Parts: sequence; structure tokens; C-alpha cells
Amino acid sequence: MIPYGSHSVDQSDIAAVVDVLENAFLTQGQQVPEFEANLCKYTGAKHAVAVNSGTSALHLACIAAGVGSGDIVWTSPNSFAASANCALYCGARVDFVDIDPKTRNLSLPELATKLENAALNGNLPKAIIAVHFAGSSCDMKTIRALTQPHNIVLIEDAAHGLGGLDQYGNPIGACVYADMAALSFHPVKSMTTAEGGAVLTNNDKLASSVRLHASHGITKNSNDFSVQDQQKPWFYSQQSLGFNYRLSDLHAALGNSQIKRLDSFITSRRRLAERYDDALSHLPLVLPQLDKNSAWHIYTVELTQHDRTTVFNTLREKGIGVNVHYIPIYRHIYYQNLGFSAQNFPHCEGYYNNAITLPLYAELTVDMQNTVIETLCEVLS
Ligand SMILES: *Cc1c(COP(=O)(O)O)cnc(C)c1O
Repeated sequence: MIPYGSHSVDQSDIAAVVDVLENAFLTQGQQVPEFEANLCKYTGAKHAVAVNSGTSALHLACIAAGVGSGDIVWTSPNSFAASANCALYCGARVDFVDIDPKTRNLSLPELATKLENAALNGNLPKAIIAVHFAGSSCDMKTIRALTQPHNIVLIEDAAHGLGGLDQYGNPIGACVYADMAALSFHPVKSMTTAEGGAVLTNNDKLASSVRLHASHGITKNSNDFSVQDQQKPWFYSQQSLGFNYRLSDLHAALGNSQIKRLDSFITSRRRLAERYDDALSHLPLVLPQLDKNSAWHIYTVELTQHDRTTVFNTLREKGIGVNVHYIPIYRHIYYQNLGFSAQNFPHCEGYYNNAITLPLYAELTVDMQNTVIETLCEVLS
């Protein structure tokens, strides 16, 4: 089976991890700060806090944003559940902004209208989590302009986006228009640490809050102690209720090695996406919008004449590991029980009902991609 996504680990990655196993601290050593510095250098963000998953990164970003009970957080329904769960962890409520059928990201006109109504009704969101679906950036400059008058915290779910650029030429994660960005290093993402994630920000206060809550809410910084406690060399202080969301040095060592290969991963993904664009243009499909700066996390097509289940099953039977991104978050039983109705998200429904994700990852060879293309042509003929 050709999977829809996969990591690329080479001998240099393996050597980097083995070196830590043999010679260094397994956690809380030098690999993590080095990884954080590498993430800052790559994206241009001032601060990076590496954590143990993208989900943890989103949770910490919500905490730092001050999201709590009584608050509402908006996100895109066309995403992985973690984009919304993070707000629920904080005791807040979630609502969704329908997508733009072209970009499959949250729709700017929908957002503008929803904000106007919320301002009138006094139920504006505390934060908005903009998901860069498939690695193609939301227009964060416009989203910032819409949300700025209402003092809304802007968080990017950039789990798909590392290695891509936004519409204005900024690296995704630079946080030029957003307060924070969350990354994921799950093996199907742009680069991997096995499990892992990070919060990026240019804001010193947000960075300190994220760092504090990633490690139990405990600080060892004596400036945060009372004068008496500053005399105690063993002292540390829990200042807030945090979590153990730390990344280990083994994972960070893999990240430090992978980030050197990131540009080559993105180049391969882009080349393969362009090949799909050319090879599939004659088929009865809606192809993803051309975005030459996308990180190309996934390549999703919409069927226009065929039954999705039949095509999906036939491709799987023929060894093509297709997938569907995403089951809209409001469709999960847990969210249905919170009262969400699919009728309120017609564009997300329209996309979801016909969507199929084709294999795309750095190590997908041209031969394997040709097999995918030929099989798809055969199934749709
Ligand atoms: C992968 C992913 C996450 C969660 O990341 P993990 O590292 O798996 O916890 C969140 N949001 C989106 C859009 C993702 O694709």
C-alpha cells in the first residue's frame, strides 16, 4: 500500500538520535534549546517553545491567550479535532467559521459577517485559530485587520504549514500577523520528531506563559521568588497549574537533524504536487488551488462525477492508501452532542462529501506517483 503520507528518516537522523542516547541527557539537555533556536532561525519568529505534540502546542497557546470558561474560540471545521479540542481543554466553548470552497481555509467573508453579528450580540470570540489547510496559508493580514478592532487573539494552527510561505512572502510561523503559531512534528507533517510540536511567537509575555505551562507551571527563575526564597539554592516555585508537555532530547535531536533537510522535503512535495496538477487536469476532479508557496502537506481532490465511497474503496483495494481530510470537526459524535449542525456549514459539507487525499510525501518516488495517477485515471474512466 502506498500511504497518503510518510516521514523520511535517513542515516544522519539516526546518528543524531544515537549520539544523544550514547553521550548526552535524554531530556532537559541541550538538544531542546538548540531545536528551539533552529525553529526561530528557520521561521524568523522571536521565540519557539518545543513541546511533546502539536496538540499540546495548541493547548498552551490557548492558555497563554487567556482562554477560559465563559470564552468562545472560533476555528475552521475543516481540520483535525485538536484545532477545536484545545479550546475545550480550557473550559471555553467552540464555534466554527465555514470554509472558502476554493482555499478550503476558513472563509474571510464568512468571518467578517460572523464578527459583525457577534459584535452586535456581545459574543465575540476571545481567540481565533486559523488553520493553514494542506500547508496553504490563510490570509493572516486580512484576518488580523478584521479581528484587530475586537482585540481577538490570533493563533495559527500551522501544523501543515512549516516550510511554506504566506501570501506576503513571510515564512509560515513567523507570526507577522498572528500572536502565536502552533507546529506539529508528527511523522506525516513537513518534518518529524516522532511526536512533537512547538509554539512560535514574537511576544515575550506569551512565550513565558507557554514555557511556564509546558513544565508544570514551575519556574526556576529566582526573579520570580520572594526575597527570602531567593536565598534557598534548592528552590523552585509552582506559579500556575501547568502540564508536563516537554519534548525529550531524543526527539529534539531528531528535529535538529530533520530541520536541515526540511527545504529538500518541501521541494520534493512541491514538485510532486505540480506533477499531480498536470497529470490530473483532464479528469472530472476539482484540484487544489495553485499556491506555489504552499508547504503541500496533503494533496486533496474533489470528485465531481463519481461516488466517493466507491472510488475510495477501489483505490484502497488497488494499493493506493487514499484518505479523507477532514471529517468536519462538527460531525464527530462528541461535537454533535455539543449541538452542532452540519446545515450551518454548507461549504465544508460540499467539500467533505467529495474529498479524497492522494499520497504525497517527500519520499514518494515518481514511479510510485505514476502508479497513483494511472490507477486513479483507470478508476475514473
Ligand atoms: C497534526 C495536526 C494537529 C495535531 O498535532 P499532533 O502533533 O498530532 O498533536 C493539529 N492540527 C492539525 C491541523 C494537524 O494536522
